[in-house]
Amino acid sequence: MKPAVAVLGMGRMGSALARALLQAEYPTIVWNRTREKAELLAADGADVKDSVQHAVDAADAVILNVTDYSVSAALLRNMSVSSILRGKLIVELGSGTPDGAREASEWYVRHGASYLDGAILATPDFIGTEAATILVSGPRKTFDFHSETFLALGGNVQHVGDDPGLANALDAAVLSLMWGALFGTLHSIAVCRAEEIDLGELMQQWTATAPVIEGLVSDLIKRTDAGRFASDDETLGSVSIHYSAFHHLLELMESRHIDRSVVDGYDGIFRRAIAAGHLHDDVAALSQFMDKPA
Ligand code: NAP
Repeated sequence: MKPAVAVLGMGRMGSALARALLQAEYPTIVWNRTREKAELLAADGADVKDSVQHAVDAADAVILNVTDYSVSAALLRNMSVSSILRGKLIVELGSGTPDGAREASEWYVRHGASYLDGAILATPDFIGTEAATILVSGPRKTFDFHSETFLALGGNVQHVGDDPGLANALDAAVLSLMWGALFGTLHSIAVCRAEEIDLGELMQQWTATAPVIEGLVSDLIKRTDAGRFASDDETLGSVSIHYSAFHHLLELMESRHIDRSVVDGYDGIFRRAIAAGHLHDDVAALSQFMDKPA
């Protein structure tokens, strides 16, 4: 028999999670601070509860998906709810820090519950599909026992380690990559506007160069992992060649009064690496200057 799952938080993501569970025919209990949003799922078969306590009481597993861990803590870590957590699985799927997940795990385990922490690397429209990636960390045995329930939420659910903080740590790493790309795109747009280039043209050039950029990103990760910082026959670009091209961007941004706050950060990393003697090394050498204060 499928376990009863309560989803607390019927925002965009929580509603998608609850819908995926209903689709997979799990007995699904829902609660939301603003009750009307939870009631939208009643037509699909969700059991709408009017308090967190009632929702938790009726469930074998509780999925938390509110804004952040402080909100989750206020909902579950109080006198009236903590006494009914024993024997239940708590899964935090809201965004948080690695230490926040470790601290939550310690608290729930101390109160007799099992705990898994997850990071959703997908938007709500992907939830319940094969393409949804959800990283889960915490005891492997607990994950294995509930893996079928997780698979209802997304086809690419991965257990990434026993340390409950790992899912959030990996999430932060992937989000860094995403924001790098998004802020890079903001620069591209600013340059196009300053030079009166149609954004449709930028779109075309992005499509054409995306595989090249993807190759550079993969190469950077692999070379850093292998510690191959000196230039060699397989080097795609040195610090020197990147820095000289980067200077053209800095000059253009300066002359067109484009905001330099992000690129000045890049400049600082280049300068520290060059001052330390890495001018002719592979661009992967820059990775050694990211974990040091400026
Ligand atoms: P959302 O649509 O803004 O929903 C936020 C939810 O948190 C609502 O259910 C809201 O209740 C609830 N909430 C906020 N403050 C509360 C409080 N003080 N007490 C009780 N409930 C409270 O956000 P979302 O997009 O669903 O995101 C939810 C979580 O999923 C976040 O941690 C987010 O980072 C994560 N996530 C989202 C995405 C995405 O693409 N959306 C992707 C990955 C991860 P009310 O309805 O009553 O306001």
